[in-house]
Amino acid sequence: MTIRSQLNLIRRRVLIITLLTWVVFAVGSFLITVHRWFIVVSLLAFIGLILETIFLMFGIRCPKCKAALGHTLSYPPQGLSISDKIKFCPFCGVSLDSEIEIEKSFST
Ligand SMILES: [Zn+2]
Repeated sequence: MTIRSQLNLIRRRVLIITLLTWVVFAVGSFLITVHRWFIVVSLLAFIGLILETIFLMFGIRCPKCKAALGHTLSYPPQGLSISDKIKFCPFCGVSLDSEIEIEKSFST
């Protein structure tokens, strides 16, 4: 697995969760007129959106240098994938298309 594919996997999962949270927020906001408890649903969804945005900015990190790549990866993407124009980590220079070194939990 390459660094790019791992970052794409994380980014896609968070973006899909964010989309679902937006739907919950929107539906909850419309249903406030039906029952007041939907205010709680909308507030929880809004807090979730804030947390997901913070994670997208600071939680996605380079596996080599652990620097936050949120701003770099927010460059206009190709669908839900990271743009092919981003080739390297801007902090340590590792290629995003290089293989991730898998740490073994036990030594032989
Ligand atoms: Zn790096």
